[in-house]
Amino acid sequence: MANEVCRYDLHVHTYEGSACAHSSGADIADFYKSLGYAGIVVTDHFWAGNTRVDRNQPWEDWLAGFRKGYETAKRRGDEIGLDVFYGWEYSFYGTDYLTYGLDNDWAAEHPEMKSMDIVDYLNLVRGAGGYVIHAHPFMEAHYIPYIRLLPRHVDAVEVINAPKPQSVNDRALEYARGYDLTMTAGSDCHSTDAKHLAGIEVDRRLTSIQDLVSALRNREHRLFRIERE
Ligand SMILES: [Zn+2]
Ligand SMILES: [Zn+2]
Repeated sequence: MANEVCRYDLHVHTYEGSACAHSSGADIADFYKSLGYAGIVVTDHFWAGNTRVDRNQPWEDWLAGFRKGYETAKRRGDEIGLDVFYGWEYSFYGTDYLTYGLDNDWAAEHPEMKSMDIVDYLNLVRGAGGYVIHAHPFMEAHYIPYIRLLPRHVDAVEVINAPKPQSVNDRALEYARGYDLTMTAGSDCHSTDAKHLAGIEVDRRLTSIQDLVSALRNREHRLFRIERE
């Protein structure tokens, strides 16, 4: 089969999972299909982040509720030919880590991940085969008391977060270069009105989140941006 260029967004939120997102998983899937993407990773804000899911329920129920945004996106994606993969965006006092390759059955066994020291969390998920991208590491905001850099404890750095200022992305690029960390790009998309988009492209269709992780580990990918009118 001839090589095809396939585009993926690595950082996408849904209404079902993220309190700050405005579009359902199904609408998000249609949006990315219309933009010509081959797939997305749904990375809603996890327990300690801006989750939409009520924390006053048993851990496994919370996890099931959290996964709904992914599931609605995946159902629609299956109908229209968009690959939808599962991940989450783990927050530690405003420092955010996109986490791939683990699923709810694994998380169900680890309720301690709700509130862990961040080094313990990164050791736990990476020790279990998970892949971690430090999202927008140089973002500054009132809810981010410190810029935390843990170059020995992450796999990759998001050097293009499409809506963030160029200075924030430029610092991330220097950081990734300095430590020879894999570079990624994503849109941090919160709605189908998103104007600034980004992602990775590879020369084959990825078959699973594990396949996506191996493409990142092998650095098969290139980064791209899209600016919409
Ligand atoms: Zn958000
Ligand atoms: Zn995000």
